[in-house]
Amino acid sequence: MTGTTGTADLPETMRAVRLHEWGSTPTLDRVPVPTPGPGQVLLRVDAAGLCHSDLHIMDSPAGVLPYELPFTLGHEVVGTVVAVGDDRDGSWLGRTCGVHGVWSCGECRKCRSGRDNYCVELTGPIGGGTGFDGGLADYMLVPSTRHLVEVDPAAGPALAPLTDAGLTAYHAVVAQPVDPHGAIVVVIGIGGLGHLALQVLAARSPEVVIAVDPRAAARDLGLRLGAHHAVESVDEARALVDEISGGTGADLVMDFVGAPETLDAAPSLMATGAALAVVGSAGGRLAVDKTGSVPRGWRVAAPFWGPHHHLQEVFDLATAGSLSAVVEERGLDGVLEAYEDLRHGRASGRLVVVP
Ligand code: NAD
Ligand code: ZN
Ligand code: ZN
Repeated sequence: MTGTTGTADLPETMRAVRLHEWGSTPTLDRVPVPTPGPGQVLLRVDAAGLCHSDLHIMDSPAGVLPYELPFTLGHEVVGTVVAVGDDRDGSWLGRTCGVHGVWSCGECRKCRSGRDNYCVELTGPIGGGTGFDGGLADYMLVPSTRHLVEVDPAAGPALAPLTDAGLTAYHAVVAQPVDPHGAIVVVIGIGGLGHLALQVLAARSPEVVIAVDPRAAARDLGLRLGAHHAVESVDEARALVDEISGGTGADLVMDFVGAPETLDAAPSLMATGAALAVVGSAGGRLAVDKTGSVPRGWRVAAPFWGPHHHLQEVFDLATAGSLSAVVEERGLDGVLEAYEDLRHGRASGRLVVVP
């Protein structure tokens, strides 16, 4: 027997932070609470993190992103299953879960090989908050239990950033070709992603980690989370790398900013055979040539989010106490102000909305 279960006690409407126009700020709207169809589940949102990508999305000119407006933002979500569209998913009711934000097809060659974050079928919207309705709302629809990973409900709102900031940082470290063990590493941008990347790196015994961020609070956070040095700019980082490495360069550069300034500087930070991970998307471009402007044998990757199985590993690290997001909680009604704080660097770690 199939049918929707759990909707009886739900309100008819809810709050949702929706983007209506490209290049503008979202609005806090009142919309109907969705009813899950076959295979879908409805989560009561427990917490949703604010990502710098949300700012890139709302700042985007029309025609750049393949998403239809309006949609609800919020792609870093932990929630509790309150309704299922199919009785056969009844065992999920009441379970608290992190949402894997890449709503992959589960069947293409990438999905079958465990690289579902590169699902070839996802040519338009990616998931909730990235083209589909996301978790900056009281409730959120998820198309399948395949995208859920159960978590400990007692762990609280700090788990939400692990679904994106944590997963992306973890995947960026483990999927790149240089072993951080014994390496000289430069981490650029100690915000939501960067502060989690430092923890993932610290567990791998690098020789030296240099954190780069113009904000003093971010540098302090970096030093607390495993960086050996913290500097204000990529120019200062270059001087320090030269000093520490005897002029040979860093083995791994992780750019969580991706601005013109940071990507222009990246080649000059690297040793021969070094790797660069470009994670931030702040409008920079990287020039590649074989005339000596990049070091011999260098490798670059632009990792995107992370596969489902890495999200489980990230939650396991959190359970073991070796990865935890530093969060500041906000209410759904204060979300527009919170986005402004994120934009102007007034937050430490991750801002998390608790509806
Ligand atoms: P954030 O705002 O929390 O952190 C960014 C940090 O970079 C801030 O601390 C800021 O002070 C610092 N910064 C700014 N300019 C800098 C510079 N020139 N040098 C050094 N530090 C600088 O942002 P976030 O949520 O951590 O996201 C970081 C970037 O990663 C964004 O561009 C976001 O869109 C991108 N992102 C990518 C993926 C992916 O899968 N590739 C996933 C999530 C986020
Ligand atoms: Zn994000
Ligand atoms: Zn796929």
